[in-house]
Amino acid sequence: MENKLYDCAIVGGGLAGLALSIQLARCGHQVILFEKNQYPFHRVCGEYISKESLDFLVRLGIPFSEIAVANIDEVLISAPNGKFIKRPLSLGGIGISRYLLDDYLYQLAVQSGVTVLQNTKVENIQFSESIFEITTEYNSYKARVACGTFGKKSVLDKKIREENPIAASDYVGIKYHIRTSLAPNRIELHNFAYGYCGISKIEDNKYCMCYLTHAKNLKKYKGNIKQMETEVLFKNPYLKKYFTESEFLFNQPITISQVSFAKKNTVEQNILLLGDAAGTIAPLCGNGMSMALHASHLAAGLINLYLNKNIDFETLKSQYSKTWNEQFSMRIKIGGNLQKIFGKNMLTNMTIGVLRYFPKVVDSLIRLTHGIKY
Ligand SMILES: Cc1cc2nc3c(=O)[nH]c(=O)nc-3n(C[C@H](O)[C@H](O)[C@H](O)COP(=O)(O)OP(=O)(O)OC[C@H]3O[C@@H](n4cnc5c(N)ncnc54)[C@H](O)[C@@H]3O)c2cc1C
Repeated sequence: MENKLYDCAIVGGGLAGLALSIQLARCGHQVILFEKNQYPFHRVCGEYISKESLDFLVRLGIPFSEIAVANIDEVLISAPNGKFIKRPLSLGGIGISRYLLDDYLYQLAVQSGVTVLQNTKVENIQFSESIFEITTEYNSYKARVACGTFGKKSVLDKKIREENPIAASDYVGIKYHIRTSLAPNRIELHNFAYGYCGISKIEDNKYCMCYLTHAKNLKKYKGNIKQMETEVLFKNPYLKKYFTESEFLFNQPITISQVSFAKKNTVEQNILLLGDAAGTIAPLCGNGMSMALHASHLAAGLINLYLNKNIDFETLKSQYSKTWNEQFSMRIKIGGNLQKIFGKNMLTNMTIGVLRYFPKVVDSLIRLTHGIKY
C-alpha cells in the first residue's frame, strides 16, 4: 500500500477522467489517475465532438490552432433503402481522432501535476472510514474522493454495481480510419439492419468510419466482420460505396463488444461515476464525448468545494447526482428511443421517408440530444 493520501483517485483515462484530473490538479489538489492502456491509443468512437465542448477543450489547453481538425456543420442520414435527409447542424461539431485528443489531454494532465499510472488496471475500489482504497494488480492507493470514469465496459462494473447490476444489452462497435471522398463539413449516418454507421472527417485528411450493431448481426456470421459487412451493411448503397471505394488505414478494425445502454446510477458505493460509466447515450446522437467532458466540469466544481471543506460528502454525492440527471437524463432517453427506431429496417425506411418532408422535426430532435456551451 502506498502511504500517500491523494485528494482524488480517478479510474479510467478517457475524456471524462483526463479532463477531471486536469481541472482538479489546477485547483491545487493531489490527483492520481489510473489507465489500463498506454497513450496514445485508438479506441472505438465516431470522433465527432459536438461544439458545446469546444470552448471547454480550449480552456483545458487543446491547441486547436495547431491541429487541422475538421469543422462539421451538416448531417446526412440515410435509410437502408438509400433514401436520405440532409440538414444543416446549428451547433455543429469538430472531427478529431481519439488517438490525438486523448494524448493531448494526457500530456496536459501530466503538465498540471496529475500522477498518471498507465498500463495500470484497477481491480477494486473500496470505501471505509471516509477513505477509498484503490487496488491494482501490484499495489493499492488511498484517496479522499474516488471517481469511476472507466467507460462503457470495465471489470469494475460487476464489483461496484453488485447492488444495482446493469441490465444486459449486447451491442458491438467497430471502427476504421479511411481516406475517402466525402464533403469535409458533413457527417453522414447510414442505417442498416440492426445498426448504423457514422462517417466524418478528422485531422490529416483522414475520415473516421465507425458503426454500432446488435451482436446478433455478428453472431449470424459467426463473428466474421467482413462477411457481415458484405451481407448486411452493403445493402445500404452509401455504405457499399464507402467500403468498396475507400483506402483503409488500419490492418484490422478497432472493436468493442458488450456495449450496454442500460440505465446506470451516478453514484455507486460512494464512488462518483462520470462519462459512459454513469450513462451511455446512443452513439447516433454524436454527444457521448461532450457529455463525458461536461460531466467532468460539473464534478470538478463540486469535488473542489468538498475538498476545500465548503460542502460535506453527502452533499457532494446528492448535488452531483442531481445536476448530472438534470443535464443528461433526457438526452439519453431520447437517444435510446431514436436508436430503437434506427435498429429496424422497415421502420427506418418509413421514418426517414416521412421525416424528409418535416425537416424542422429533424432539427428539433438533433437539438434535444445536444446540450449548450458551458
Ligand atoms: C460505436 C460508437 C461510436 C461513437 N461515436 C461517438 C461520436 O461520434 N461522438 C461522440 O461524442 N461520442 C461517440 N461515442 C461515445 C463516446 O465514445 C463515449 O461517450 C466517450 O468515449 C465516453 O468517454 P469516457 O471518458 O466516459 O470513457 P472512455 O473514453 O471509454 O474511457 C474510459 C477509459 O477507462 C479505461 N479503463 C476501463 N476500465 C479500467 C480499469 N479497470 N482500470 C483502469 N482503466 C480502465 C479504459 O481503458 C478507457 O481508456 C461513440 C460510442 C460508440 C460505442
